[in-house]
Amino acid sequence: MISFNSLGLAKPLLQALDQMGFETPTPVQEKTIPLLLEKNTDIVSLAQTGTGKTAAFGLPMLQKIDCDQNHTQGLVLSPTRELCLQITEELKNYAAFINGVNIVAVYGGASIQDQAKSIKKGAQIIVATPGRLQDLINRNMVHLSKVDICVLDEADEMLNMGFQEAITSILSNTPKTKNTWLFSATMPQSVAVIAKKFMVKPEEITIGERNAGTKNVSHECYTVSGRDRYPALKRLVDAHPGIFSVIFCRTKRDTQKVADKLIEDGYDAAALHGDLSQNQRDIVMKSFRLKRVQLLVATDVAARGIDVDNVTHVINYQLPDEIETYTHRSGRTGRAGNTGISMIIITQSESRKIKSIEKIIKAKVVAKKIPDGKEICESQLYHLAQKIHQTEIYDEIEEYLPQVNEVLNDLTKEELIKRLVSVEFIRFHNYYKNLKDLNTNISTSAREDSYSDKGDDVRFFINIGARDNYDWMVLKDFLRSVLNLDKDDLFHVDVMDNFSFFTTFKIHQQKVESIFSNFDLDGRKIKLEVSEKKPRRKNDSFRDKKKSKGRPNRDFEGRRDKKKGKKRKFTR
Ligand code: AMP
Repeated sequence: MISFNSLGLAKPLLQALDQMGFETPTPVQEKTIPLLLEKNTDIVSLAQTGTGKTAAFGLPMLQKIDCDQNHTQGLVLSPTRELCLQITEELKNYAAFINGVNIVAVYGGASIQDQAKSIKKGAQIIVATPGRLQDLINRNMVHLSKVDICVLDEADEMLNMGFQEAITSILSNTPKTKNTWLFSATMPQSVAVIAKKFMVKPEEITIGERNAGTKNVSHECYTVSGRDRYPALKRLVDAHPGIFSVIFCRTKRDTQKVADKLIEDGYDAAALHGDLSQNQRDIVMKSFRLKRVQLLVATDVAARGIDVDNVTHVINYQLPDEIETYTHRSGRTGRAGNTGISMIIITQSESRKIKSIEKIIKAKVVAKKIPDGKEICESQLYHLAQKIHQTEIYDEIEEYLPQVNEVLNDLTKEELIKRLVSVEFIRFHNYYKNLKDLNTNISTSAREDSYSDKGDDVRFFINIGARDNYDWMVLKDFLRSVLNLDKDDLFHVDVMDNFSFFTTFKIHQQKVESIFSNFDLDGRKIKLEVSEKKPRRKNDSFRDKKKSKGRPNRDFEGRRDKKKGKKRKFTR
């Protein structure tokens, strides 16, 4: 087995590694460190977060700088403040036995004057977020003309976050002769462009496959209807009692909403997003690290740089807009040699995105079913039994045992176990006993059956249509804004020439009727009626089109469109 001793590292660095308890180099360290120590070269290293890449560039950088010189020789650019601080701390740990080295972190949200002062004292290494560094350059508070090494860490993330211009400008302030070491989890075109523009014949180091996800993570997907996303999330969490998870939402609003609901429902959850102050974000992250928060609900941007090693599950509450972002999300679990699971909650209409994800991660996403009440109770019970078995017994309890014994004396061991376990079991059993199956990825007929059982939808007729310049998307937007409903609360919007239909949940019926009871649209009275017929099924649109061929043009709810022979204009 390769040891750190054989990589060519200097004594003070080996001493620090020893003190930190690092015994063997990780694959990226094994490949990168000797190369960077031997050669002055540019490199492109494709490695996921959690693979030990900070040491892979940090150790050679520390060995190469001259501590007798005060000017800035090493520059590390990182996407977020969190990551910037983590890298700085880690570099300081590696430099514990080197005299005279100064490592300064610069990032937004803190005093620029203080950071400028620290740099002025002499900073051989600066770890920076691009925005703040650009600011310091513009104010002439930092000088990069003698930089020898520039590291672009998580380059794909930095470019995703819109730092392309800042990076280009920063790099043009550094000497052409410097070496650039680029680290990235994925290799999108934007990173390749930067590499081409600023690097000279870079050596390429790939750990695992290009753009592939980590092998330690397995991927699961759960198909539910849009309105069942939240109950599905709860079931997934309940079915994994020891879960320690990052839950990803697409927007700040959804992130906060999901976290609030979870807290209301009694989970140890917290939200992490850009609308929180830096101080609030620090508090949330600290609680998560200490496992006081079990479920961290986060946006993609806020979760960048989260470096917590033992996250058991990543849950994609919603898929990201950019499918590539999925790799970053799933990379938050399966770190530091652990295994992890990345779960995706999707609706039927999103299911095609799974193929794209599989292509990117080069691994299979296994379709799974949301566990039912019985399965959840089983895993909770098993977890409880294990917890009881592993519970540490405190000496202090002895003094109370006689009274407790008196109460429980007449119970056999079996009875005692049954009662003990029942305390927890009843809670879950009562909650889940009458709840429906949430899975929608079953056969069409099964789906239709479960759909007709629900009976909680209501279908409306409305007297505006394609003639009024509506298609289903425009009508849906109009209804959403007028009724102030979520997009998942309005469905099956079908637009004919002269009128349209839409479906919503029964709970909204009163609101819909009341808003449209007296509604003028450009001087025209809007008429709304509940449609008598059952709501259409999801797959009906295809069947209807086939049926209507060559027949009188009746819409599927039996209303006849005045324009004879005209087919439905738009449907969804
Ligand atoms: P990174 O990919 O640099 O964020 O590192 C992930 C985690 O692994 C950090 O907490 C490091 O301190 C730790 N680490 C890095 N290299 C090693 C190693 N060779 N042995 C043990 N832990 C390591």
